[in-house]
Amino acid sequence: MANSNSRRAFITKTAMAASLAPLATFGTTYTNKIDDQPKLSAPSSIKITDVQCGIIGGSLFVKIHSDQGIYGCGEGVDAIRGAESLALGFGRRLRGQSPFNVHKIFEDIRRGGHFGGGQSGMYVAVLSAIETALWDLSGKALDLPVYQLLGGKFRDKVRVYCDTALYRVRFPKPEDFAKAGQEAIKNWGFNALKFDLDYAGDPDKYDRYNWTASPGEISRMYDQLAAVRQAVGPKIDLCVDMHGRYDHVTAQAIAKKVEPLNLTWLEEPIPAENFDAFKTLTEETNTPIAAGENVYLGYGFKQLLDNGVDVVMPDLQKCGGLGEGQRIANLANLYYVPFSPHMVASFLGAMACAHVCASVPNFHLMEWQSYFHTDEMYKKIVIFDEGDWVKDSFVTVSNKPGIGVDLNIEAMREYKRGNAPFFEENN
Ligand SMILES: [Mg+2]
Repeated sequence: MANSNSRRAFITKTAMAASLAPLATFGTTYTNKIDDQPKLSAPSSIKITDVQCGIIGGSLFVKIHSDQGIYGCGEGVDAIRGAESLALGFGRRLRGQSPFNVHKIFEDIRRGGHFGGGQSGMYVAVLSAIETALWDLSGKALDLPVYQLLGGKFRDKVRVYCDTALYRVRFPKPEDFAKAGQEAIKNWGFNALKFDLDYAGDPDKYDRYNWTASPGEISRMYDQLAAVRQAVGPKIDLCVDMHGRYDHVTAQAIAKKVEPLNLTWLEEPIPAENFDAFKTLTEETNTPIAAGENVYLGYGFKQLLDNGVDVVMPDLQKCGGLGEGQRIANLANLYYVPFSPHMVASFLGAMACAHVCASVPNFHLMEWQSYFHTDEMYKKIVIFDEGDWVKDSFVTVSNKPGIGVDLNIEAMREYKRGNAPFFEENN
C-alpha cells in the first residue's frame, strides 16, 4: 500500500510537471520535440535545394530540385502573371527541407499567408503545383509511383471523358454536336463525352448580363443534346457543362427538360458561389448536378456536399493538389458522392490526377482534353515513354517512380510568355 501511494504520488508529480513545463515554453518546446523526431529510412537526408518555374498558356509548371540530383515536377492551372513570384517565394521557404513531409509543407504554406489559411484562388493554385512536385520528387527518391505513396490503388486504369471542345465552333448546330460525338468515339475510342451548352453569341439570348435563358435558348440546348444522344446511342456517358452562366430558373428548366436524355451529369448550370442554391436544384430534378471546378480546398467541398451536390469535380491543379484532392474524394465518399475531377492541364497534370483517381474508391470519371490529340505543343512539352496516353477511354496509371511524366524544359521555352522567369535559378 505504501508502495502504491508512493507510486501514485510519483505519477501525480510527474504528470503535473509534464503538464506545466511545456506551458511555459509553448510554441518552441513542442515544435522542437516534433522536429527532433527521428525520420529514419535511407533517403531521409534528401533536402530541397531550389524551386524553379515557368508559365505556358494557363499552366504554371514548377520543378523542385534536391541535393541528390533528383527533381520533382508539378503543375497549377488558371495561372496568371504573378504566379511565378508566388511560386518562387514559396520555393525559397522550402530550401533545406525534406520533400517527404508533403502534408506538413502543404500546411505550412497554406497557413503561411496573411490570413493563416483563408486564401484561395491563385495562392492555392500555386500551392497545388508545389505540392504535386513534392509527391513526384518523393516518389522518385523512394522508387515508388505516387499512387503508392497515397496508400495504393483501387484500379490500374482511370476512365476519362473527352471534352469535345465544340466551344471552338461558332454557334454549333445540333448536327455539329452529333458529328463531334461520333468522331470522338470513332477516332479516339472514347465512351464518355462532354459538351458545353452555354453560348454567349446565341441570337436568342436576352442580353449580356441577364442569367435567364430564353425559350429559344432552352430549345437550342435540348436540340443539341438530343441530337448527340441519338447519334451516339444510350450507352455513351454524356456530361454537359453550362459554366455557371445561368440562374436558378434556367437551371430548373433545362435539368427537367433533359431528364429523358439520361445525362451522366449537368455541370454548374448555376454558379458555384452560393452553395445553398444547389440544395433546391438537386432536389428538383433526376438529372445529376455536378460542381466544383472553381472551389478550393476541402472546406469548399464540404459546403457543396452539405448542400446535396450529386458529383464533385475538384480541379487538382488548383484546389490544393494531390493530397487535398484525395481528402476531398474521401470526404465525398462519406456522402456516397462520386469524385470526377476537372482537368485542363498538360499530360503531366493529367497523370498526376490519375494517381489520385486510382487511389480512392469513389472515383467515377476524369476529364480529358481533345487538345491532347490536336495540339502538338502538348506532346512536345512532356516526356513520356509508356505508349498511348489514352486508350479506349482509359488512362493507364504509370508504375514509374513519381508521377511518371517528365517536363521537356527546352521544348517548353518555345511557348513561354514574355520575359517572365522561366526555370531560372531562384535567388
Ligand atoms: Mg466546367
